[in-house]
Parts: sequence; structure tokens; C-alpha cells
Amino acid sequence: MDIKIDKSKWSISSQRSSGGHHDEDAQYYENIAYRCYKCSCSCVFTAEEQKEAYEVTQKFVWWIPTRCSKCQEDLNTLLARDHEYQELWNSDKESVKQDEPLMKDWLHVIKDIESYGKKSNQSMITCLVKCINET
Ligand SMILES: [Zn+2]
Repeated sequence: MDIKIDKSKWSISSQRSSGGHHDEDAQYYENIAYRCYKCSCSCVFTAEEQKEAYEVTQKFVWWIPTRCSKCQEDLNTLLARDHEYQELWNSDKESVKQDEPLMKDWLHVIKDIESYGKKSNQSMITCLVKCINET
């Protein structure tokens, strides 16, 4: 089934842009091929997914995914762990600073996140490295 483009549902900035990956007068979304940043597999950003992303989630119309769904899931798990550590840090910094294995694991998680092409908290890395060296 053809997935019709409804530009009136795009975000304002999308509507002002030149129409993203499709021709100005295109009527339907077409599958877009891309490569996963992490595992380099070939992926397809389907017409259905584009309609969802641009018209419902209001993604900018030039946006396409950077990762395959498997890698995105793995990344989400890592981000959740990073978030947990961050909360722990915020609530009890001194205990975290005494816990070398925990800090090392957190550092590992942050570095892993970077390997997925996601920016991470550089000042946190600096801080962890410093704290680990001091234990
Ligand atoms: Zn992947």
C-alpha cells in the first residue's frame, strides 16, 4: 500500500525545509536505505516508519535513523544503565566515589554508548577517570 505524504502534519521547520529526502512534489513516502552506524548492516527506513517519524513524532524531515532496531535496543539498555548510575551519583556521590568497580563499569557503559555514535557526557568521563585514579 502506498503511504501518502501529508505535509500539513509535518513540524513547522520540516514544512519550511526543502522537503527532505523526497522530491518537492512527491505524493508518497518511499523506502530509504541506510547503514547502521554501529554494526554496518544495511537497513531500510520504511515508508510507514517515515510517516510515523515525520507526521506523528514530528521529526525533522531530513532526519533518518542512524542505527538498526537491534542496535537501537542495545543502546537504549545502555542509556538506561547510564541513567541509573547518574541517579546514584546525584543522590550519593561519596559512596560512588568509594566504589571502584562501579565507576569502572559506568565508564565502560559511557564508552560503549559512544561507540553507537551517540554523544556522551565528557565531563562525567573526566570526573570518573580522576576518581578511579584516586581510589
Ligand atoms: Zn546495527
